[in-house]
Amino acid sequence: MKRITAYQPLPIAFEQGDGVWLWDTANNRYLDMTSGIAVCSLGHAHPRITEVIAIQAEKLLHTSNAYQIEWQQILAQELAKITGMKQCFFTNSGAESNETAIKIARLYGRTRHLDNPQIIVTYGAFHGRTMATLSASGSQRVQKGFEPLVPGFLHVPYDDLSAIEQLAKQRQDIVAVMVEPIQGENGIIIPQTGYLEKLQTICHQQQWLFILDEVQTGVGRTGQWYAYQHEYCKPDVLTTAKALGNGIPIGACLMDGAAQDLLQPGYHGSTFGGNPLACRVAHQVLQVIKQEGYLEQAEHIGQYLLERLQQTLSSPLIVDIRGKGLMVGIELTQPCRPLMAIAAQYGILINITAERVIRLTPPLLLTKQEIDWFIPRLQKSLEQYQD
Ligand code: PLP
Repeated sequence: MKRITAYQPLPIAFEQGDGVWLWDTANNRYLDMTSGIAVCSLGHAHPRITEVIAIQAEKLLHTSNAYQIEWQQILAQELAKITGMKQCFFTNSGAESNETAIKIARLYGRTRHLDNPQIIVTYGAFHGRTMATLSASGSQRVQKGFEPLVPGFLHVPYDDLSAIEQLAKQRQDIVAVMVEPIQGENGIIIPQTGYLEKLQTICHQQQWLFILDEVQTGVGRTGQWYAYQHEYCKPDVLTTAKALGNGIPIGACLMDGAAQDLLQPGYHGSTFGGNPLACRVAHQVLQVIKQEGYLEQAEHIGQYLLERLQQTLSSPLIVDIRGKGLMVGIELTQPCRPLMAIAAQYGILINITAERVIRLTPPLLLTKQEIDWFIPRLQKSLEQYQD
């Protein structure tokens, strides 16, 4: 086998990490402003995470869902405490969590005697790379070449309630709306305040499930456990993954309201989903965030990062700088993928999404000093890219 296909990695390999810092095989140090695409929110090699990985690895890694798994119960209870959701299905990734949500919406359709239940989704959305989740996504980039797509999705513009109200008048076969509270892959697109709340109202009026994909926004990234908690609303189905395991793969699909009790034994499953190691680590992630005050930190440091970027970053290429908590997008006038490599030369790791948006999703433990160290280097990277 010559090489792994499907990715185009930079020619850098990391060997070690500590908090917000990474070291490559040549011992060069980098400030990680990506967290491995919003995964390592507690940074790299966090001692409290490393500790439980070691303890659990010595005891037991996997037994399968044919038996009780105590750590699933403990983690589910913790997730219920922080979200108010009632039921939980554990998965290994964001796409799998969203597949579960889509299957729940279809089961809900059956309870309403619908043969072709439809889920409203949004243009620009990213819900994953499996066939159902790429079909639910709203971009050609992930769909092209994989047609025929899975049917049952109606796409509307993001942050546009009137398009949804229009569909509600026209169709009787809709069972759910599924959105991201902030479109991450689409370039940190933040809807107007009240979007989610109003969406929930429409869903309740129409008896649709209100499904939130918080795979990227969840687990503290925006300054709340989940981004919907910035508003007065609550989903019927909530999906989470990425930062939940800080690098150990785990996801979950949480259910409440009419979405409860639809998954019956035998309807869905996952060999690895919710194994003792992943659940114990995720539980520890939640404890660390709570006990060490990282929700407040994400909000305050995120505000500082956003303000400093808005005040000091200067380039004719910049169209907009926006963000919520530690989820920040710097939109440029043109595609800017080469910036990732240039930035790495200055010792900073950034991510480019939607072709021309610099996405920053640093660990929640980032400090002001590190932000002050980062911004001049980003400025230099932009200048070099411009030349
Ligand atoms: N949903 C959202 C909002 C995401 O940002 C992502 C990944 O970027 C996914 C789903 C897919 O998650 P995964 O890559 O873990 O399958």
